[in-house]
Amino acid sequence: MRDAEYLLQLKDGTIKQLNPFNETEVWTIPGRADRPYHGTGEVPVPLDRAQMGRHCAFCERRYYDTPPEKSRVVTTEEGYAHLDDLAADELFATTAHFRQFPNLFEIITLDYWRLNYGYELPAAVRERQAKYLATNAGRTQISNLLVTKRQAQTHGGKTRPNPAAMNHFGGDALSEASAALFGGSHDVIAARRHYIEGAQYNTQLAGSGTLTPDEHGEFIRFTAFAARNILEQNRYARYAVIFQNWLKAAGASFDHLHKQIVAIDEHGEGVDDALDRAVKRPNLFNEVGANYAIQNNLVIAENQYAIAFAGFGHRYPSIEIYSKAAANEPWAHSDAEIRGVSDVLHAMHAATGVEVPTNEEWHYRPKDSSVAMPWRIVLKWRISNIAGFEGATRIYLNTISPWSIRERLIPDLMRLRDLGQIAPMAIGDECCVKPNPLHYLEEK
Ligand SMILES: [Zn+2]
Repeated sequence: MRDAEYLLQLKDGTIKQLNPFNETEVWTIPGRADRPYHGTGEVPVPLDRAQMGRHCAFCERRYYDTPPEKSRVVTTEEGYAHLDDLAADELFATTAHFRQFPNLFEIITLDYWRLNYGYELPAAVRERQAKYLATNAGRTQISNLLVTKRQAQTHGGKTRPNPAAMNHFGGDALSEASAALFGGSHDVIAARRHYIEGAQYNTQLAGSGTLTPDEHGEFIRFTAFAARNILEQNRYARYAVIFQNWLKAAGASFDHLHKQIVAIDEHGEGVDDALDRAVKRPNLFNEVGANYAIQNNLVIAENQYAIAFAGFGHRYPSIEIYSKAAANEPWAHSDAEIRGVSDVLHAMHAATGVEVPTNEEWHYRPKDSSVAMPWRIVLKWRISNIAGFEGATRIYLNTISPWSIRERLIPDLMRLRDLGQIAPMAIGDECCVKPNPLHYLEEK
């Protein structure tokens, strides 16, 4: 079968792109193309030393400003370990590299699941809630959070929490009002640092790319298993959306590195579109994904477990990172396989740079689908705005062509590899790029 042209170069230099999974139409137009990105133009402001660890609610000296933690990653002599379900007065006994906690402002609320499905908090969550609320520190934290949440919802967050308002939540009322802070299905995975170690200016943010490959590997593994746990706790959830918004222009409310996991009762159109196509064409993700990228010289980097190429047919300049593993779900991957995907993803973040707003979106097979689908991650550079032209035509103007993305990244990847800041991997023409690199159809 002959494929549609997903990438078409016209005589004037226009590049027409078609997304093979959802048929999004994207044009890169000469003249508009390759407009360099100069960041936000923000002038660096010296950091206030007194605010270290307190820049935002996700920072390491503000553990009480987030809902109760479900799990954290700490360092032990044997390496990383997880501490689950800490009590409020234990939070400051260790420093967390990564923390999983419910989002105070859920996208899909606990009431959505309760009212539409009759969802009840699992007994273990109820027990944990009772234990947490049995301490003064726990009750104070929860009361303050409920006040913060209520005020943000009623006053747009402009007023300060009023400690007197805590009295509204006594006994059972506190337990009922705080159910979502323990048993919601929308969690945050926050990293430790807001700014890099020794930062002096507010532009020196700690992003995915400034983590070490080891730290990033743990971030990805911790996130994958957190998603599995959320799905296990909510039988009505059909999919867990996993994403990272980096910087305000990409939708982040804090410029503190974090991912989000949101359980939903659908797969979302993007996943369903891809599944529909994969039913008719099981090797789809090789044929119109990796193989097509190989044929068109779009491969950016590769290791034993993953391959990255410049994406086509995306509304924003994008990099796609595919797992080569037989496993379909992220958490079904071995540690080495997760690490392999993490290393390539980390390198793409590092070469992109912390000044670029990005969305990182995970795709994988939903738990109620029997169609084989690889774990893949799309990293989007949010450097242009969608405007009237797009709204009127549904043709999206993308300012950087897939080949320009590849050309821009390769020298930076080489430099970062020489410096030892990313894990070893093949870059650009070093990639071995055998056809059919993805083994998701061989799942056991
Ligand atoms: Zn912070």
